[in-house]
Amino acid sequence: MEFKPMSGREFPRFSAIKTFFRLPVASLQDDFDIGLIGVPFDGGVSYRPGARFAPTRVREVSALGRGYNWSRGENVFERLRVADLGDCSTVPIDMKQTYEKIEAYFTSVLKAGKRFVAVGGDHSTTLPILRAVRKHVGKPISLIHFDAHLDTYPAAWGQEYHHGSFARHAVEEGLIDAKSSWQFGLRGPLAGGEDLDFVKKHGLNSTTVDDIRIGGLEAFLKKIPAFDGPTYITYDIDCLDPAYAPGTGTPVPGGLTTYEVQRIFRALKIKNLVGCDTVELSPPYDHVDITAMAVVDAVFEMLCLFKK
Ligand code: MN
Ligand code: MN
Repeated sequence: MEFKPMSGREFPRFSAIKTFFRLPVASLQDDFDIGLIGVPFDGGVSYRPGARFAPTRVREVSALGRGYNWSRGENVFERLRVADLGDCSTVPIDMKQTYEKIEAYFTSVLKAGKRFVAVGGDHSTTLPILRAVRKHVGKPISLIHFDAHLDTYPAAWGQEYHHGSFARHAVEEGLIDAKSSWQFGLRGPLAGGEDLDFVKKHGLNSTTVDDIRIGGLEAFLKKIPAFDGPTYITYDIDCLDPAYAPGTGTPVPGGLTTYEVQRIFRALKIKNLVGCDTVELSPPYDHVDITAMAVVDAVFEMLCLFKK
């Protein structure tokens, strides 16, 4: 099988069955490099629901996605064989069963020697993926985390696992190495100053929109170190300002622009990128697909970060 997007000349982009980037559907045994996987679950959302509809919407909107990255001077779909693996099975009314299914599924993806970009889903879906990655890699990994929120929050309504607590569990379970992990796009308001205690205690490199804007983007990009060990990227679309990404669960004004995010992606130097995800797109709260398009662009930039 040739893992190339369908030709827009043979089937114009508005036509044909929608897969991620018009790529072929594959199974784990097929001979591809990177799998695109939907994780349709939003049972961890505390405010606006709807992220369960994101994978389907991203498939539709990615029909306009193209493969040549002008900044890098290469077509990612020429360099890498990318396929749509379909969706991971979930249980819409049960977090525990969903976590088990996600961890088992991504374990099978990694065992098959594949890398992946997962399209969530709310941010609670990242934790079981990280558990699978940690087990596969055999040591804590470096996390690159785009978000308006720290996602280190305590239990809510007595529930440990929700879309604002994955990063805390990832540190507490030893899934990630906090000191070599970075957060981008953070901003307030917070519930209180003590919200920062956790990241300070564990030495996470938590950076804010101020850190980028006050000293300037170019100076900021130079401060990001190379990632030499196994690395995972989680991209919460609410790192963007609601002007760029209104269709999300918990929007926060004063965020990054899509351009700033592109520049951060292009500045990242990662030796061993194990996997990526994008989360928190809520299509029912989107307008004219503005947020879904930003997700498609982030998936494209993340694909470009994988080595052959
Ligand atoms: Mn998040
Ligand atoms: Mn967030």
